[in-house]
Amino acid sequence: MIYMDNAATTRIHPEVVNVMLPYLGAKFANPSGIYTFAKGVRKDVERARHIIASTIGAMPEEIYFTSGGTEADNWALKAAAREHDGGNVISTQVEHKAILESLNDLENNGIRTTKMPVDKYGMIELDRLQKLLRSDTFLISVMAANNEIGTIMPFAQIGRIARSRKILFHTDAVQAYTNIPINVNSMYIDMLSVSAHKIRGPKGVGFLYIRKGCVRTPFINGGSQEMGMRAGTENVAGIIGLAKAAEIAYTNMKARTNNEIRKRDYLIDKILTNIDGVTLNGHQSKRLPNNANFTIKGVNGASMVLMLDQQGICASAGSACTSASAKPSHVLKAIGMSDDDARSTLRLTINEEITYQDIDYVVRCIKSNVERARKEM
Ligand code: PLP
Repeated sequence: MIYMDNAATTRIHPEVVNVMLPYLGAKFANPSGIYTFAKGVRKDVERARHIIASTIGAMPEEIYFTSGGTEADNWALKAAAREHDGGNVISTQVEHKAILESLNDLENNGIRTTKMPVDKYGMIELDRLQKLLRSDTFLISVMAANNEIGTIMPFAQIGRIARSRKILFHTDAVQAYTNIPINVNSMYIDMLSVSAHKIRGPKGVGFLYIRKGCVRTPFINGGSQEMGMRAGTENVAGIIGLAKAAEIAYTNMKARTNNEIRKRDYLIDKILTNIDGVTLNGHQSKRLPNNANFTIKGVNGASMVLMLDQQGICASAGSACTSASAKPSHVLKAIGMSDDDARSTLRLTINEEITYQDIDYVVRCIKSNVERARKEM
């Protein structure tokens, strides 16, 4: 199998599995206990918090473990909104559904939301953002990088604008974390969402960074876990796995992403030069190291994914979340694509383990599938 759907999820790193196993067995204590056995596990959870904090320049007490990216996004928006009576939140049209649906929820609760348009590369314009800011804008939420087309937003500049106006800045960094350098201080980030399963960690765990004092409203009520902000017995094995995955991904970020960029560019170049009627979506240079997204004229993306599946290749038509629905992806629509073109889109997201031979095979398969599909038209 050639796995090219790493934006949907990644293969858990074997070292991550190894460090998690004891917490699914012998180290089963509830970290809230006051005896030695439990205090040992508590110490391990706190060590994980330290490791995570150090990867983004945060303090450990600013890291709150969650059940993943979706929960972190919900928390950031809803808790910030609860601290305001009405007011305005600015975001974009290309956010993940976790943000877009949370914005809809805020709308239903008396908050005005502005979903900024993007240009043909999926980028927001900073001048437009400046103009849209209102006196009651209390939060800007813009993703660090897009999960479908891989475009990296100018999030450090957005942070600077937000800080200069004393507006909170949240970024969904689920796809960006450990793929591009992030520092919450130099980039003026007040809240940041991360998910473990996108970085070779386990599913169902992630974290929300909240700058000290920025948002104080608890998200889940109950016990005093996560400094009283997110109740519920901790997913200890998941947290340990998340920290290990983050540590590995952070430590080898430069070498890994340089390797991915070379392979990604080889893949893009091969597809564009070998197959007619193909365009690359997203930004040429400001794109995630592992993302390639193409529109292949006259070839249905979902059919292409099924043909590739027969050839032992895992890929995606648009985003994993929307590929089962007939509606074209909101991201592709937002960059100005017609419905037909949006339905003719293929996303290939690689990893460091993909070889050049794998890429050659994938391109050969896509080329023959395109020829077959166009003949049948
Ligand atoms: N935000 C972005 C940009 C994503 O790509 C995803 C997952 O696809 C999420 C949020 C949701 O993360 P999780 O799967 O951990 O809930």
